[in-house]
Amino acid sequence: MGDFPTTARVVIIGGGVVGVSSLLHLARAGWSDCVLVEKNELTAGSTWHAAGNCPNFSSSWAVMNMQRHSLEMYRTLAGEVGYPMNYHVTGSLRLGHGKERMREFERVVGMGRYQGLEMGILSPAELQERHPFMEIHDLAGGLWDPLDGDIDPAQLTQAMAKGARDLGARIERFCPAKGVSRVGDEWIVHTERGDIGCEYVVNAAGYYAQRVGEWFRPFGGRTVPMVVMSHQYFLTGEIPEVAAWTREKGHKLPLLRDVDSSYYLRQDKNGLNLGPYERNCKAHWVTPGDPMPEDFSFQLYPDDLERLEWYIEDAMARVPVLGTAGVGRNINGPIPYAPDGLPMIGPMPGVRNAFEAHSFTFGIVQAGGAGKVLAEWVMHGETEWDMWACDPRRYTAHADHDFTLAKAVETYGHEYAMHFPHHEWPAGRDRKCSPVHDRVIAAGGQMGAYNGWERANWFALPGDDVSEAATLTWERAGPWAVRVQGEVAAVRDGVGVLDLPGFSRFNLSGAGAAEHLRGRIAGALPKVGRMNLGYFPDSRGRILTEMSILRHGEDFFTLISAALAQWHDFDVLKNGLPEGLSLTDHSADYSTLIVTGPKARELFRSLNTEADLSASWLSIQPASVAGVGCALARVSFAGELGWEVHAANADIPALHAAITGAGAVPFGMYALNSMRLEKGYRAWKGDLSTDYTLLEGGLERFIRFDKPGGFPGKAALMAEKQRGRRKGFVTLIVDAGDCDAPYMSTIWHGDAVVGETTSGGWGYRVNKSIALGMVRADLAVPGTEVQVEIYGQRFNAVVQADQPLWDPENARTRA
Ligand SMILES: Cc1cc2nc3c(=O)[nH]c(=O)nc-3n(C[C@H](O)[C@H](O)[C@H](O)COP(=O)(O)OP(=O)(O)OC[C@H]3O[C@@H](n4cnc5c(N)ncnc54)[C@H](O)[C@@H]3O)c2cc1C
Repeated sequence: MGDFPTTARVVIIGGGVVGVSSLLHLARAGWSDCVLVEKNELTAGSTWHAAGNCPNFSSSWAVMNMQRHSLEMYRTLAGEVGYPMNYHVTGSLRLGHGKERMREFERVVGMGRYQGLEMGILSPAELQERHPFMEIHDLAGGLWDPLDGDIDPAQLTQAMAKGARDLGARIERFCPAKGVSRVGDEWIVHTERGDIGCEYVVNAAGYYAQRVGEWFRPFGGRTVPMVVMSHQYFLTGEIPEVAAWTREKGHKLPLLRDVDSSYYLRQDKNGLNLGPYERNCKAHWVTPGDPMPEDFSFQLYPDDLERLEWYIEDAMARVPVLGTAGVGRNINGPIPYAPDGLPMIGPMPGVRNAFEAHSFTFGIVQAGGAGKVLAEWVMHGETEWDMWACDPRRYTAHADHDFTLAKAVETYGHEYAMHFPHHEWPAGRDRKCSPVHDRVIAAGGQMGAYNGWERANWFALPGDDVSEAATLTWERAGPWAVRVQGEVAAVRDGVGVLDLPGFSRFNLSGAGAAEHLRGRIAGALPKVGRMNLGYFPDSRGRILTEMSILRHGEDFFTLISAALAQWHDFDVLKNGLPEGLSLTDHSADYSTLIVTGPKARELFRSLNTEADLSASWLSIQPASVAGVGCALARVSFAGELGWEVHAANADIPALHAAITGAGAVPFGMYALNSMRLEKGYRAWKGDLSTDYTLLEGGLERFIRFDKPGGFPGKAALMAEKQRGRRKGFVTLIVDAGDCDAPYMSTIWHGDAVVGETTSGGWGYRVNKSIALGMVRADLAVPGTEVQVEIYGQRFNAVVQADQPLWDPENARTRA
């Protein structure tokens, strides 16, 4: 008791596999003066009862990175720290029942290859060679991940704990944290055994993370959007055939995942372990009448075998020896789910010097990588890989209890589902609607959710197939294609209107605002009455974010960015904001109508506006259109003559009625995406991410190396300019088949992988498949011939000149 630590650099709340890995990564990086507090024994939360499966597979580049790092680490950990563990690298088989699933596998194999993983595609017969107990008559093939396997979660946690302790980090067991407070810049973590003062605090409390998160609300925090689901697996007794096979071969069977049926089945000792993600799943502790107990350490829920029946039958048909086995034991434990099923790792939204690493559904396999990412966030405020996919700030105010519950249930029930490019998941919808939402729907709008904001993706005509089933494809073609083509044509030849609620919108003002903002972006500020694009580099010159900067006065700006970026970009602006400057978020107060096409000027003229319609590209002006007050910004992400009409929500219906009444044709996000690709305009967190520097991203024209005062990352960018960039941004025309290139398709030059796509789609004005991406710098030269691998097939592609494919001189936008 006497040596209880009263200060530490970092306090981690929670001694599950993730908290302990975070502690180890901090200690390995030299931050050993850190303390982890655990209310019970290590692993008491979800970790002790996890099945311990450890795949590399993920359709997310960031998550695959994290899992790959974990497995690399686990393979050597026991020897490094001197703590033996049970870790069986058995390989795994993922079964594909049809063409679309096999395409998903092909894509992941390509991403894996790029990360140095030797995954492969197997025929049904090859699957059976590896797993002779399996029926294959209904299979199209499968994916082989040779480095998949299973690890003992408790031993893994203890091994990492030993590693951390050996480096001087502290672990306090049976030490429940009870709350936090602040004294100046210091956090005080109150525990049952005393207070610990620290610089940084980490919420790694597993399924208790929402409860711990509430302590941070007085300091600007929000309720953590997570739900606790029950997850089961059952273990059979010994199966003689499996025992005999294992004896003969000297190793275990590979882990099998029937992802279309939604379960895994793996060998456990000489029996089997069946773990389904059931459609008929169950959330716990979600109503006031069923509160989460104060302590659930080392406890399980009662068995619920009825829920598993369908899956057991399906698995018995797949692996008939399963039917011969007796049930040994069932495990039904709590597992936390964020709305999208990915963890939250990174800065705690709204709270300085506080971080999160929780809501892991695959925490055993992800803990190694997550510890690395968390440690980087805490120590450097930036991470090696872009980790937006797991950033806690990806959920904003709409992620309340009902939304989170609906999405978590949907995600759990579709844990292995494919995420098709034209498919919108139905749960948790209509959270944030435009002032003209009903009108957009009445016009045939087929809606998509963008940070909760409902926007039309495309407009259907009566008789079009608008079923969910029609969207379950990787292919470009579908009921939307002909309509999108029509919408693009309307914008190209006449004038269109896109109702675009949800832009992230911040006002920055106060004496010195201009000087401050100038020091945050790489380039120059616009003049008063004008707008431009500002790129915010991080300390390494990587692309932290992009915002449109509208300058209303010498020291008065509106900054506009992607809907998704709301909390992230607010943080970017808030961090380091000098006293006396005002920063406010107006994202929910205003909305935008994009009015664009060669007849846009005519349309506004017909609406009795006094606005100066000859004002140049990137001008902004207060105006009234059809008698309604608004602001006009002369810009078009579609790459045509056009204006963005920004107005208070209450004024949008009248403006929308006037604009559509004057003949503007409604168009949707798919049309906009097609047109922005043709212009080479980058999209946030695809083409623009911290995986790339501004120079790699082809954004040098937005950098002013010689401006007074400098900017973050300047030295790094200057050094990169001297030595030459590694990669270069390119636009590719792809001789594609029936699918366009998805994010992270690999780019080949001969037999070498030389880059990756960052987005792709069909350009309806140029009638070609377009991909934006990064290639080795020496190949970023117009005319270079490469190949893009799209779902396993390589297609010829040519690097285009560094100018838009559509209207290269920008004559139409500046008309
Ligand atoms: C049945 C089942 C099977 C699973 N199988 C797999 C699998 O095969 N592969 C895989 O990758 N994942 C699997 N998982 C998921 C995995 O168990 C979790 O993702 C992982 O354990 C999460 O680890 P964690 O450290 O985030 O949380 P936890 O292990 O829950 O740790 C959080 C810790 O915080 C402590 N704590 C909470 N509040 C406080 C406080 N106030 N003060 C101090 N300490 C506190 C808790 O006691 C707990 O020990 C499975 C889960 C279940 C339920």
